[in-house]
Amino acid sequence: MPHTEFASDNTAGISPEAMVALMAANNGTTASYGNDEWTQRARDAMRKVFETECEVFFVFNGTAANSLALAALCQSYHGIICHKLAHVESDECGGPAFFTHGAKLLLVDGADGKLDPGGIDKLVAAHTDIHAPKPRAVTLAQSTEVGAVYTPEEIQALGEACRDMDLALHIDGARFANAVVSLNAQPADITWRAGVDVLSFGGTKMGLPNSEAVIFFNRELARDFVYRCKQAGQLASKMRFLAAPWLGALENNNWLRRAGHANAMARRLGFALWRLPGVELLFPVQSNAVFVSMPEPAVAALRERGWSFLSPLGVNSARFVCSWATQPEQIERLIADVSACLGTPDTNTEPA
Ligand SMILES: *Cc1c(COP(=O)(O)O)cnc(C)c1O
Repeated sequence: MPHTEFASDNTAGISPEAMVALMAANNGTTASYGNDEWTQRARDAMRKVFETECEVFFVFNGTAANSLALAALCQSYHGIICHKLAHVESDECGGPAFFTHGAKLLLVDGADGKLDPGGIDKLVAAHTDIHAPKPRAVTLAQSTEVGAVYTPEEIQALGEACRDMDLALHIDGARFANAVVSLNAQPADITWRAGVDVLSFGGTKMGLPNSEAVIFFNRELARDFVYRCKQAGQLASKMRFLAAPWLGALENNNWLRRAGHANAMARRLGFALWRLPGVELLFPVQSNAVFVSMPEPAVAALRERGWSFLSPLGVNSARFVCSWATQPEQIERLIADVSACLGTPDTNTEPA
């Protein structure tokens, strides 16, 4: 059996509180398509978390959340500014272009997977001609695809820049919980109070069965969104089972506790890896992912031992992701195998 513990945070199961809430919703008949009390309560819980009257929708996965949110912001001739490592660019099979009927992703660079505001300015200045797609939205990932976290000041600055340039601001929050804990911030302060219009709030990676919330702080943009969901095959008839697990996650700050655990495990793993000669951390460990470089033969040997992980930055790189379910013993097993694969003296059984 492959070791999938660190392959992603979506390899983990369902957190106990999400499961309890799911089972509690499995009681009798209720209205379908979101007109039930569980969905109503989950929406209200979300409004409490964000301290505002936002519009809340539940969909099955992050690709749909991002693509449909961006489709609500853009016409077919628009441009969507994102980081060159963005999930919307490389991991959504062209979903944003498909659901917007042609909006183009415009790529900007920046350290640690964060958008460089200067790069956005330049890109907008270079797209004023009628022959180019008209920049209409910025989408950023919080936390980023390489595990870094935008500070509240950085979000605020991007929010102001977007307002000045008449751009809508969307957050891909597949790992929003990990960012909130990392910053010890109020969710409102790093979203709508900073100028964010729409958030894809990830549930799956923080321990829900399979649900992501699309949250419109700019409620005007949510007009007809439910039709978009329906047409895209993302309107669950038994909506209560997408919504109810959120109740378990959001109550008693369970989501923050679980994300805090994942972040702590990543810090522990990052530190242990960093101490091994031949291993370098590629990015600051600010959420639940650790990116390292190590010699290519060691990467290959680790795979030989059954460990499943991505090498998103080349054959001498490895990405390890922690979750609500990560256990310290799993970290110890991984570290022991990485040490062995690096050929460090105490574990190397082969002659040099
Ligand atoms: C996991 C992830 C998503 C969502 O992916 P799905 O597989 O469609 O649920 C979106 N954005 C980022 C940055 C992710 O890591």
